Amino acid sequence: MALLQISEPDEILAHAPLQKKIIVGIDLGTTNSLIATIEDDKPVLLKDNNNNDIIPSVVHYSKNDILVGMEAYNKKLSDPTNTISSVKRFMGIGFSDIKDYKSLPYQFIQKDGLIEINTNCGIKNPIEIASDILKHLKQIANNHFNREVTDAIITVPAYFNESQRLATIQAAKLANINVMRLLNEPTAAAIAYGLDNQNNIQEQTKDGAKCLVFDLGGGTLDISILRLYQGVFEVIAVNGDTMLGGDDFDYGLYCYILEKEHLNALTNEDTALLLNTCKKIKEDLSSKNKSCCTLLLSNKRLLNLSITQDEFKNISQKLIDKAINLVHNALTDANILPDAIDKIILVGGMSRVPFIKHALQEVFNAEILNHIDPDKVVAMGAAIQADILAGNNKNDWLLLDVTPLSLGIETMGGITQKIIHRNSTLPIIKTQQFTTFYDNQTKLLIHIVQGEHDLVAKCRSLGRLVLEDIPPMKAGEPRIVVTFQIDADGLLSVSALETTTNKATTIAIKPSFGLTEDEMTALLKL
Ligand code: AMP
Repeated sequence: MALLQISEPDEILAHAPLQKKIIVGIDLGTTNSLIATIEDDKPVLLKDNNNNDIIPSVVHYSKNDILVGMEAYNKKLSDPTNTISSVKRFMGIGFSDIKDYKSLPYQFIQKDGLIEINTNCGIKNPIEIASDILKHLKQIANNHFNREVTDAIITVPAYFNESQRLATIQAAKLANINVMRLLNEPTAAAIAYGLDNQNNIQEQTKDGAKCLVFDLGGGTLDISILRLYQGVFEVIAVNGDTMLGGDDFDYGLYCYILEKEHLNALTNEDTALLLNTCKKIKEDLSSKNKSCCTLLLSNKRLLNLSITQDEFKNISQKLIDKAINLVHNALTDANILPDAIDKIILVGGMSRVPFIKHALQEVFNAEILNHIDPDKVVAMGAAIQADILAGNNKNDWLLLDVTPLSLGIETMGGITQKIIHRNSTLPIIKTQQFTTFYDNQTKLLIHIVQGEHDLVAKCRSLGRLVLEDIPPMKAGEPRIVVTFQIDADGLLSVSALETTTNKATTIAIKPSFGLTEDEMTALLKL
C-alpha cells in the first residue's frame, strides 16, 4: 500500500521559496496607457521592448497579427480603418451614443447593444480592444518580473458609470488580469502626491482637508474634489467636460492663424499639417515666451509663424473661462467655497500650460502641486495603492468614492425616480419598496437608469430586471423590497425580497453594453 505523506499547510509554506506578491498599477488611458510597480519604495514605470513607458492606447488589427502601442500608432496613417485608438471612449456605451461616428475611420456595425467594429482580424468590441491593450501591458510586466503577473489595480475616471466600470473589469478578465480594485484617477493622483500623509496635508477642520484635482488632457477635462479625513480619501464631487481638451486649444490657434494669414480653403493635408504645427507651438509656449516656425503649404506658399504666450492666452480665453466655470460648478456640487481647498493637483499634458495654472491661482489660495510628471502621476498612484494591497506597505488607508451619476428607476409616464443620488459616498445600500399594479400580478418589471434628467429617455439605461413568482395577491398588497447596492468599485448589484412571503430573489442585471457571462466564457476559450 502506498503511503501518502501529509504536511501541514504552514509547513509547506515554510519550505516554499518566498515570492513577493506582485500587484501592478495600470493607468488605462484614452490616449496612452502606463503600467507601474514599486521598487526600492518608489513607484517606477515599466518599459516596453523599445524602452518606452508611455504606451499609446492604440491597437492595429491585421489578418494574422495584433499590434499594440507605438507600432500600432505608426499604422494610423497607412491603415486607419484597422487601427483603433481612444477605445476608452467606447467602453460601456452603445453605437447610438457615438455622435461623431461618421468622422471616425472605423467600420462600425450599426446595431443596438455593445459597439462592434469590423476589422481585418474579425469583428471586435471595445472590451476586446481594451483587453488587447491590457494583454500588452501584462506582457511588459511579465517580462520585467520574469514571471506571470496576474493582479492589478486599474484606474478609471471618477465619472465612469456602472457600465463603463464593468466593461473595464471585463476587459481585464479577458486579458487574464484579476482586478484587485478599480481606483478613481484623481484619487490615484492624490496618493502619488502622498496626501495621505499628515505632514503633506493638514486636516485643519473636523471636516477634513480638501484637494482639487484638475486633469486637462488632449480631449477631456476632469475636475474632482477629494476630502481627506482620518486617513480616508473621499471623492466628494466630480465635474468636467468630455469635449474640452488640448485639441480645442490647438483648434483655436489654428483658426487664429487662418485669419491672420488670410488662409482659406486649405487642402486636407495642409489642414492636418497646420493643426499639428499648432499643437507644437502650444507645447513650445509652455517653456518659451514666443514660438516661431515656418510651414510650407502644398501651393508652395511659405508661412512664417510667430506666436507669443500672450497672444495664445488671448486666443484661448474662452476655453479657459469655460474650464474655470466647471471648477466653480464642482465647488458648488461639493457645497464649498474656493478657500476651503487646501491643495490643487495638476494632471494631464495640458496642465503644463502656464496660463492654466495662473487661472487656477486667481480662484484659489491653495498650493498647486505639479512637480510629478502629469502624464505619469496616475499610474504612480495606482502602483502605490497596489503595493499597499499586496501587503508590502505599512500604510493602509481607506478609499471612498462617490457615485458620479444618480441611479434610479423608471416610473409611470417615463419619469425617473432617483434612488441613489449623485455624489453619494460609496459603498452604499438603498432600499425601495414596490408593489403590484393589478390583482394576481406575478411579475414586475424594473427598469434601472443612471443620470440626472427627470425623463427616463434622457438617462442611460443600465438594464431591466423582471421579478418573477410573486404570489398572486390583490393589487398593492405584495411588499417587494428592492435593494440597490453599489460596492467600493462602483459596481451595482440589485436584490429583491417579497416580504409577505419572505421570498428572496437575487437579480443579476444584464449589462446593457457589456458581455454576458456566456459571451465572456466563449471569448476566454478563444
Ligand atoms: P494627455 O491626454 O494627458 O496625454 O494630454 C495630451 C495633451 O497635452 C495634448 O493636447 C498635448 O498637446 C498637451 N501637452 C503635452 N505636453 C504639453 C506641453 N509641454 N505644453 C502644453 N501642452 C502639452
